[in-house]
Amino acid sequence: MLYRTVPSTGAPLSILGFGAMRLPQKDGVIDRPAARSTLAAALAGGITLLDTAWPYHGGESEPFLGEALAGVPRESYALMTKLPCWLVKTREDLASYLPRQLERLGTAYLDYYLLHSLDRGSWATMCELGALAYLEEARDEGLIRHVGFSFHDDLPTFRRIVDAHPWDVCLIQYNYLDQSFQAGSAGLAYAVSKGIGVMVMEPLRGGALASPVPPEVQAAWDRAPVRRSPAAWALRWVWDHPGVVSVLSGMGSVSQVEENCATAREAHPGALSPREHEAVREAASAYRSLLRVACTGCRYCLPCPEGVDIPSCFELYNARYLFKDERAPEKYATWLCGGGENAPSDVSLCTQCGKCVVRCPQGLDIPTLLGEVDRDLREKDAGGH
Ligand code: SF4
Ligand code: SF4
Repeated sequence: MLYRTVPSTGAPLSILGFGAMRLPQKDGVIDRPAARSTLAAALAGGITLLDTAWPYHGGESEPFLGEALAGVPRESYALMTKLPCWLVKTREDLASYLPRQLERLGTAYLDYYLLHSLDRGSWATMCELGALAYLEEARDEGLIRHVGFSFHDDLPTFRRIVDAHPWDVCLIQYNYLDQSFQAGSAGLAYAVSKGIGVMVMEPLRGGALASPVPPEVQAAWDRAPVRRSPAAWALRWVWDHPGVVSVLSGMGSVSQVEENCATAREAHPGALSPREHEAVREAASAYRSLLRVACTGCRYCLPCPEGVDIPSCFELYNARYLFKDERAPEKYATWLCGGGENAPSDVSLCTQCGKCVVRCPQGLDIPTLLGEVDRDLREKDAGGH
């Protein structure tokens, strides 16, 4: 494992962080024995940054980490969780989460506490409620050591938030498809110029950049001068940036941990050659020409009050074009439109209420895109597209 330093603290962190949001599951809940093995493999592989958040796994991620880390020396890892800003409406709310999060995690302090998923609206609320003063009080009391924020909005908003406080870290979405999206490369450079440690989420875009990738993308990797898995290419591209301190990956199995740790062992900044960067540009271009909806499958838009399974609609639509899945219309009819045993969860239920739109970190115009999905997947032949 390689380690990089958070500028404001001098603290070394593993360049690969363990994101506890895609733990192995069984019957819809965390498969605790498998999740414990996955976490143990991460610690054995040299990972020192463990990341979770209040809502992950329906609120079970923090308690799971608390149980699984009992007995592991506390100073051997850095623990990071986040204040669920969208649930905070009053000053009482603001102060109500941290004590419960410490209890769930079975720890007296957090190494990193982040304002979760800031956008212009939640940032305005946080400012109004005095969140920055609250974070500093919590730091003075020794409950948290370092403060930061995770972010989903545009670049001007990102700069405003960066400028508002001497943050230790920020967490941005960054991968070879999202270089100009949200904070993007410009935001990363800006945060670095202000001495903020940049952590990266969605390096594999919700798994879409890992295997299996569309044949056109695989062809770009096959032409590259070095053999790597698609996931290893995507991670190496992010780590090539010297300003990135740590990359969070939601790893769901021991084998994923082992593969990512192996990649991390050689990911020195600036190590990719011009020819390797060219291969990444080719892969990105192939991806962009095929992808219909930039949904990462995070499920933050759910539940829809009418029961529309939004991420599955987008997944089937993308699969039709990324992977030429000719059965996508049939799957839509059977799985989502009530043709099988499941209750309907297709686009026809949508009332265009817009509740999902404000929750989507990708800023997708979900109702409009759903209309496109429905028109497309009700046609058997994708040849005209
Ligand atoms: S706009 Fe449609 S999909 Fe979104 S929450 Fe409302 S009913 Fe559900
Ligand atoms: S539509 Fe948006 S919120 Fe819903 S799963 Fe996709 S990216 Fe996440």
